[in-house]
Amino acid sequence: MRNLESNLNYFKSLLQPSTKIMVMVKAYSYGMGTFEIANLLEKNNVDYLGVANTFEGAELRNVGIGLPIMVMNPEVESFDLVIKHQLNPVIFSLKSLNVFLKYIETNQHLLPIKPYPINIKIETGMNRLGFNIRDLEKVAEEIKSHPLVFVESVFSHLSAADESQFDDFTNQQIQLFHQSAKKFCSTFDYPILKHLLNSHGIVRFNNAQFDMVRLGIGIYGFSSDKETQQNLLPVSTLTSKISQFKTIPKGDTVGYGRAGKATKELSIATIPLGYADGLNRRLSNGNWSMMVNGKKAPIIGNICMDMLMLDVTGIECKAGDNVVVFGKDNTIVEMAEKLETIPYEILTTISPRVNRIFSYN
Ligand SMILES: *Cc1c(COP(=O)(O)O)cnc(C)c1O
Repeated sequence: MRNLESNLNYFKSLLQPSTKIMVMVKAYSYGMGTFEIANLLEKNNVDYLGVANTFEGAELRNVGIGLPIMVMNPEVESFDLVIKHQLNPVIFSLKSLNVFLKYIETNQHLLPIKPYPINIKIETGMNRLGFNIRDLEKVAEEIKSHPLVFVESVFSHLSAADESQFDDFTNQQIQLFHQSAKKFCSTFDYPILKHLLNSHGIVRFNNAQFDMVRLGIGIYGFSSDKETQQNLLPVSTLTSKISQFKTIPKGDTVGYGRAGKATKELSIATIPLGYADGLNRRLSNGNWSMMVNGKKAPIIGNICMDMLMLDVTGIECKAGDNVVVFGKDNTIVEMAEKLETIPYEILTTISPRVNRIFSYN
């Protein structure tokens, strides 16, 4: 947890002192945990937490988190929970705007604060969520005619901030956002926060901080920028323990489909982790190695649902010994490369049944 704090402080050092910080804690804080991470961020005085859906926001409220929580994609069916838990919804389409305004009008007595804050997302090139720029004038007028809501922020999202071959495109997104947000905000007579940058954006387009940034993967210890990566500390390791140790003769096979073959006498360690724990089955048959007492032991045979076997031949070990699934010597970045994906997916697919242990030392 100290490392997470250190990463937060590193990103703070890249920002103007006045720039606000939203930390994205969607998907169980990128797989790390709900309460513990949000609680630490609250203690560190970040300005906002960001989640994907209403359920995630409600979960944070239920464990006592009081920070403002912005919900990126609140389903129209969940607006009652948005209000109940005092979550800050993102409105990205005329439909969501109209449904929300209607909900607010008919449920005035339920509003914990008046006027109620909403956040407007503008489409600038990601083509995921957001108002088309040509609709913004209409949106502004509509909102102005409803005194029960106010715009707390207006934002957009970069689609390739970490890829230099698309820097022209990113700069175009920045310009589009700058112009359209300015025009939109000029309709209102109160200040509205503007925000655009994700983690990569903070590192590579530092001059587009606007009023706030939305920090995600970086705080969890990852950056595709080499220099930034060197300044970040690792936040998570996954460990397990050997359930059983055995020696098998030449000619035996290991696991389902007899996929693991003993071409000589082998030592085998069974580990209580499988694909149901989020360990991708494509890591089977030597495609990943775990650290056993400081040495690399490859996975032998197919990964099972709840278990896998390691070839620990030549490694001194016994039942009960620790195993590092990923850590400093076999990193998440390497695992992501093996699986042709990104660290985000590795982190967020570790299943909830894997116990998260938090230490602060
Ligand atoms: C997830 C998310 C972020 C954070 O992105 P990172 O690449 O993890 O920094 C920022 N903004 C929005 C809208 C997001 O959904």
